[in-house]
Amino acid sequence: MDFSLSPEHDLVREMAYKFGQTQILPGLAERDREAKSDRASLEKMAEAGVLGVSIPAKYGGQDTDYISLGIVCEELERADTSARVVMSVHSGLHCLTLMQWGTEEQKQRWLPDLAKGTKVGAFGLTEPNAGSDAVNIRTRALKDGDSYVLNGEKTWISLSDFADQFLVVAVTDPDAPQKAKGMSAFIVDRNAPGFHSKAIHGKLGVRAGNTGQIFFEDLRVPADCRIGAEGDGFKVAMSALDHGRYTVAAGAVGIITACLDACVKYSHERTVGGEPIGKKQLVQQMIANMVAGREIGRLLYYKVGWMKNVGLRHTRECGLAKWQNCNAAFQAAHDAVEIHGAYGYCDEFPVERYFRNSRGAMIYEGTREIHTLMQAEYELGYRSDRPLDRMLPTWPFEA
Ligand SMILES: Cc1cc2nc3c(=O)[nH]c(=O)nc-3n(C[C@H](O)[C@H](O)[C@H](O)COP(=O)(O)OP(=O)(O)OC[C@H]3O[C@@H](n4cnc5c(N)ncnc54)[C@H](O)[C@@H]3O)c2cc1C
Repeated sequence: MDFSLSPEHDLVREMAYKFGQTQILPGLAERDREAKSDRASLEKMAEAGVLGVSIPAKYGGQDTDYISLGIVCEELERADTSARVVMSVHSGLHCLTLMQWGTEEQKQRWLPDLAKGTKVGAFGLTEPNAGSDAVNIRTRALKDGDSYVLNGEKTWISLSDFADQFLVVAVTDPDAPQKAKGMSAFIVDRNAPGFHSKAIHGKLGVRAGNTGQIFFEDLRVPADCRIGAEGDGFKVAMSALDHGRYTVAAGAVGIITACLDACVKYSHERTVGGEPIGKKQLVQQMIANMVAGREIGRLLYYKVGWMKNVGLRHTRECGLAKWQNCNAAFQAAHDAVEIHGAYGYCDEFPVERYFRNSRGAMIYEGTREIHTLMQAEYELGYRSDRPLDRMLPTWPFEA
């Protein structure tokens, strides 16, 4: 077993770290306080080539492996969760799912713009009445000649106001004996007549990021924008979550590292009773837990990245990584506030932002409860993964 990362991985980490610290972090505290999201950071990410990570060179991407995508997410979330969320929805949920389920013609049509970042992709599954129970979505796609007519709404959609296109799951056969088999997935263009979006305000975290609702009113989608066969929509959505959860798991490690950065510095600076608080054993305990969380978290997501590289089904491992890393990140952020005492309770220090941001990741892409149940069900034999009709391309990518 070889645990070493390649020199390319080290370069990717250095690039993503520098990008996060120089392009995302400046002005972030203010944008977060004022809940200001704009397209500027997406444009910076596009310019730096970040949006093309783990997309094959033949579609204009960076051709890096899937572990690199995790490393980028880790380093971006070390700066701010809003930047990692862009990677989760654009690269994970949208592009990798297109790479897995799209036809060659569809990949040629969409991936080059997505890799360059001239177009940004997002993902629409959740609805006002269907979150954890995604099989109960109501958005309807009615076949009409060479197209489908969509009606319905999606909520809590990251990049709702900025993305150019959305991977949307809708019901095509309401009478299907199993609801999951009555759904199909589509690429919906935000310029299509009948589309509109509306931001959600007052979020606890990811305040520098955009989240909102998207609406479809008699929105016509050409049949060649359907991803996968009719009836494959739920499977496509679950594959998308394998990619999105991977990016969230990796990003969570970045929050832990950011907590360590802040806490180590503060523990040296702050003195109580004549000595730095870093000398206090209970403070050391919290720092030691963060170190363990970071190292375990990396092992979990590197393994999933490797499984993606070699083409193994990884729904179980990916869910475990997402669940455990998000728990560890939230605990680290909680302890980081603790270590900072009263100063951790205001935005003079970044740890309160880590605390608010890390809470969100225990909700999206499967709540903590859903992941707990999934892991138990795998172990008890109530759940298992069958081979999929379409797998993610293995890495190295075909020329
Ligand atoms: C910041 C943010 C960004 C998001 N971005 C996107 C996005 O880009 N695209 C998208 O499609 N969605 C997105 N979501 C939505 C997210 O995926 C859902 O919020 C999530 O799946 C949970 O659904 P819900 O909020 O409807 O909660 P519910 O499903 O209503 O759950 C409420 C509570 O009940 C519990 N619960 C539910 N079912 C069970 C069960 N069987 N057993 C035990 N407990 C259960 C849950 O764990 C939770 O505690 C985002 C959410 C947030 C907060």
